[in-house]
Amino acid sequence: MMFARIAAASMALITVACSAGPVDRTDLVLGTVCSIRILDGGSQAALDASFARLRQIENEMSANTGGTIVAAINAGAGQAPVSAPPDVRYVTGKALQYASLSHGAFDPTIGPIVRLWNIGMDGERIPAPEEIRAALPLVDYTAVRIDDAPGTIFLPRAGMRLDLGAIAKGYAADEVARILKEKHVKAAVIDLGGNIEVFGKKPDGSQWRVGIQNPFDDRGAYIGVAALPGGSTVVTSGVYERFFIGPDGTRYHHILDTHTGSPVRNGLVSVTVISTSSIDADGMSTTLFALGLKAGMALVESMPHVEAVFIDEDKHVYMSSGVPSIFRLDDPAFTLTAVPR
Ligand code: ADP
Ligand code: MG
Repeated sequence: MMFARIAAASMALITVACSAGPVDRTDLVLGTVCSIRILDGGSQAALDASFARLRQIENEMSANTGGTIVAAINAGAGQAPVSAPPDVRYVTGKALQYASLSHGAFDPTIGPIVRLWNIGMDGERIPAPEEIRAALPLVDYTAVRIDDAPGTIFLPRAGMRLDLGAIAKGYAADEVARILKEKHVKAAVIDLGGNIEVFGKKPDGSQWRVGIQNPFDDRGAYIGVAALPGGSTVVTSGVYERFFIGPDGTRYHHILDTHTGSPVRNGLVSVTVISTSSIDADGMSTTLFALGLKAGMALVESMPHVEAVFIDEDKHVYMSSGVPSIFRLDDPAFTLTAVPR
């Protein structure tokens, strides 16, 4: 009894000691480097719970490894609905919203095309045109059936494949923020492979500063920095994330055109979304990239609480109307440009 009480007392001391300074952890999850840095109210328990949740999301939503819920849904394509927990149904439902918002430029049933290319994974290659032609009719978000009563997801045609890669990391960041708050964390930076979410107030009272990646440079090189309040998220989709260079020097990157079945080629190299929900920012960044500058910018301007920075291959930078008051372009190699009419 006595021993237990002493142990409990020293545990409390450790917790207090941890929460005084920053606590952080970095690990490989969700196919990328994830790091969580707690600036106020941190504990190892909060980090443990966060990384456990990240692993759980990976084990449910990865399309690239066997044994996940998404893999089971894909195996059941054309056969039978597959049981899926509420979070998988929620993320799939969100993906379908972005699909209809973009009239299919964003489409979570892009899986058969993703698998042909395998960009950034083992076996990446340029598929034959007839392979792409055969797979394209399987890309059809309108066919996906989410049924909340028995809790299932059904892909009605054999060969269809769900791929939540464009949105799962955003959901994961929101989940980590929720868990950290539950664990009484007061301020933290969540960085899931460059998808950033900040929450709470920094202990020194200053605003959060989040860099926008220079798409032509190494990770951590910024074209400028955004000053943001807690509760903000900054998510980028870019050609530099996963790609390979073909024999003719062409860069084949991982955001695919649902009409051609090949990497999107519209002059953009990255789109960064600044918003308050990471699942939405992740869904939007891929959506805007696929839509291109004109249609993408028009969509951003029609939505409240969403801002975006588009960068093209000529190093032109295009900002939505709310960006100039929170972000300064610092790199002189880039030119701030108005969207052509
Ligand atoms: P990252 O994974 O680097 O954060 P994105 O959020 O832009 O980048 O997601 C890219 C991933 O989304 C691809 O690896 C693929 O799994 C999937 N994907 C590719 N093209 C599309 C598309 N047109 N619609 C929906 N998902 C896509
Ligand atoms: Mg995305």
